[in-house]
Amino acid sequence: MEQNHKQDEQSELYAGFNKAFKSFATKAIHVGQEPEQWKSLAVVPPISLSTTFKQNGPGNHAGYEYSRSGNPTRNCLEKAVAAVDGARYCLAVASGLAATLTITHMLKAGDGIVCMDDVYGGTNRFFQKIAREFALEVSFADFTMPGKLKAALKNNTKLVWIETPTNPTMKVVDIQACSDMIHEHSKDIVVVVDNTFMSPYFQRPLALGADVCMYSATKYMNGHSDVVMGLMSVNRDDLYDRLKFLQNALGCVPSPFDCYLCNRGLKTLHLRMERHFKNGMAAAKFLEADPRVDRVIFPGLPSHPQHDIMKKQCTGCPGMITFYIKGKLEHASAFLSNLKLFAIAESLGGYESLAEHPAIMTHASVPEKERNVLGISDTLIRLSVGLEDEADIIEDLEQALNAAHPKKE
Ligand SMILES: *Cc1c(COP(=O)(O)O)cnc(C)c1O
Repeated sequence: MEQNHKQDEQSELYAGFNKAFKSFATKAIHVGQEPEQWKSLAVVPPISLSTTFKQNGPGNHAGYEYSRSGNPTRNCLEKAVAAVDGARYCLAVASGLAATLTITHMLKAGDGIVCMDDVYGGTNRFFQKIAREFALEVSFADFTMPGKLKAALKNNTKLVWIETPTNPTMKVVDIQACSDMIHEHSKDIVVVVDNTFMSPYFQRPLALGADVCMYSATKYMNGHSDVVMGLMSVNRDDLYDRLKFLQNALGCVPSPFDCYLCNRGLKTLHLRMERHFKNGMAAAKFLEADPRVDRVIFPGLPSHPQHDIMKKQCTGCPGMITFYIKGKLEHASAFLSNLKLFAIAESLGGYESLAEHPAIMTHASVPEKERNVLGISDTLIRLSVGLEDEADIIEDLEQALNAAHPKKE
């Protein structure tokens, strides 16, 4: 009985979403991890710390020369990520922003970048404050309105940056429709999707027409809030060759130890994402039903404006929730300060629940005017719902709401 009940709950949660990708868990656990690649037949890939590798004669090596250009532990991770992304290649770099930097270095002065208007604060800062200094033309548009994206594409556009769902207002972009429109404008434009919020377990941008799928692996991919890392998956040989060159030539490589940890985190990605979805849905439904909350933005709820697109292009929904608490900044502050289980902290996607205030914390680098246009107001709160017990998560949200808005007798 218990078992049946759980299965029903599961199917209701996933109703209308795409079916899970075939053999996802098997690939995450086994691809690139073959014991036969090591003399010791180690089942778990060793952490290969050596910076250099012996050559049998000058130029005669066994596949590795110097650890920036290639590292055995990094290779294991890259192969596993490529497999779960449904990609031919993956490259690991030192952070999500290092991936953004590396991808942007495929461009040259005078080229244009069009970026989704609501993106990770650091992406916005990189394009506005750094890419522009290197004579790249940068513009922003709301890709949920196809006409705005179309109008933003110019003759010199070489890169389009999509993030979906966006951070923190959770707008969902139709990746296939945008990719088709962009590639119709010009085959030379590289379409990048920042897939950090979704992970490949819930969304595979390359299968939806994107050219590069990038991650801040710091979040769900590693999932344990103990590694800063970036990943880039591609299918095209020309893009792989260019990014592989840049990985080595720019030098933003991750440490073998971090590669080991991220590779380990990947083994439970499917289990974690399922629990993030279940807990996230429970928390979103609880908040939506509470009169002290103005609005909940959770793409897994039918109330989300692009819920249908979410279902069409994803296999589930991560545990990220944005909501507006009733009142003013003081109410948002009181709510956050009174949380006991959720820690007030930046970042997301780890096993532990986190809460933050985007206007003051993660998105402080976005100019106030733009924050207002995007709806990043004083009452906006972002939750990264973790893997704790559902009842404890709801109880914590409820007691913090009680503290922010004491019930009147
Ligand atoms: C955190 C984050 C980044 C930046 O990644 P780092 O690993 O912190 O450099 C990029 N995009 C999104 C959506 C993020 O959440």
